[in-house]
Amino acid sequence: MKGKYQSLSLLEDLKGNEIEKKRVLVRVDFNVPLDEKLNVKDDTRIRASLDTIKYLLSNNCIVILMSHLGRPKGHVEEKLRMDPVALSLENILQRRVIKLDDCIGEDVQKIIFKLNPGEIVLLENLRFHQGEEDNDPVFSQQLASLADIYVDDAFGAAHRAHASTAGIASYLPAYAGFLMAQEIKSLNRLMFHSDRPFISIIGGAKVSSKIEILDRLTEISDGVLIGGGMAYTFIAAQGFEIGKSIYEEDQIKFCKELMEKAKIMEKVFLIPEDVNIAFEFTQDSDSFNVSKEKIEKNMIGMDIGNRTIESFKKVISNSKKIFWNGPLGVFEMDKFAKGTNEIARQIASLHGKVFSVVGGGDSIAAINKLGLINKFSHISTGGGASLEYVAGRNLPGIEVLKK
Ligand code: ADP
Ligand code: MG
Repeated sequence: MKGKYQSLSLLEDLKGNEIEKKRVLVRVDFNVPLDEKLNVKDDTRIRASLDTIKYLLSNNCIVILMSHLGRPKGHVEEKLRMDPVALSLENILQRRVIKLDDCIGEDVQKIIFKLNPGEIVLLENLRFHQGEEDNDPVFSQQLASLADIYVDDAFGAAHRAHASTAGIASYLPAYAGFLMAQEIKSLNRLMFHSDRPFISIIGGAKVSSKIEILDRLTEISDGVLIGGGMAYTFIAAQGFEIGKSIYEEDQIKFCKELMEKAKIMEKVFLIPEDVNIAFEFTQDSDSFNVSKEKIEKNMIGMDIGNRTIESFKKVISNSKKIFWNGPLGVFEMDKFAKGTNEIARQIASLHGKVFSVVGGGDSIAAINKLGLINKFSHISTGGGASLEYVAGRNLPGIEVLKK
């Protein structure tokens, strides 16, 4: 594996009696969206860990899965139990998944120690215990006591130093699962492969949530394309009226400095030239395309405009590597999904010619809606984790998997 994590301990390297019939505790990222009836709304994250689960089953392991779900903040929340997830996994695998009502303790241990090779257990939501997010060594140890081997397949949680992603590795031999390895391999290719130009497309709601990544991406990319809600703070920093568009005053200085930095480094750095505006933040509002110089006080910027779409497409069509995070408009409303959809289609049309990586829950939802998931080289299951990884940060959940 190329890049800074080339020396990870990998599950795929465990063979024969190193793995056969072992009790293996796997941290997965089964933090899936649930609907009102508490059914799994989207099982992408569950399916993403199937390679790891199937590898363990084929080696007659006792498979113990653990994940967090939502933000219960250290106590039991009935709506955030893992039961629907177990059901969904059962349907996918077509075999029994034993769901336990806790993740630690004597009762849990008793059941697990009685299991036979080839059986699968899903522990209760890890975040029902405060020890999880506190990375409490006692909690880590309690988890570790359930198994012989720890496998981390939760790339989406790797930027958090929690008991199940970091602490536990002090008490069990730790390995990267297939999904974790695949994520790292793809992101390394994006960061270290010599293919150029490398274009980053960044959207989403806020500048503040992606400051560090914007700065870093400007350094490592040949071009940065800015869309979504965050574009309006940049447009304001250029001195234009932005009306009632989403905006972060305290980020103006940063935006100015970043545009200056891009200029000095001679990078392509595109802020929308025109935008699609509304008068109310609803699908029914009147809307039209305006140049950014013509935005008025009563207008809300909802999407990148037609000229901007064309400029973005031109840059994208000349690129060799693309990293995309964050929708370019309020894509949840069809009327304002054009920018996001057109750019998604453009990247998809280059499939096989460019190396394209998309991360972020909403960005992936947008691409899913278009049925274009298979036209991207890599869909990262981690939004925050992929951003931090590409920004060059050390992710605690990966650090502990180093040999
Ligand atoms: P991801 O989940 O892909 O990382 P984010 O969570 O950062 O993306 O941002 C997604 C959100 O940004 C979406 O809910 C979308 O509606 C919102 N957004 C995009 N453009 C705008 C805009 N012009 N005004 C307000 N919100 C926007
Ligand atoms: Mg999001």
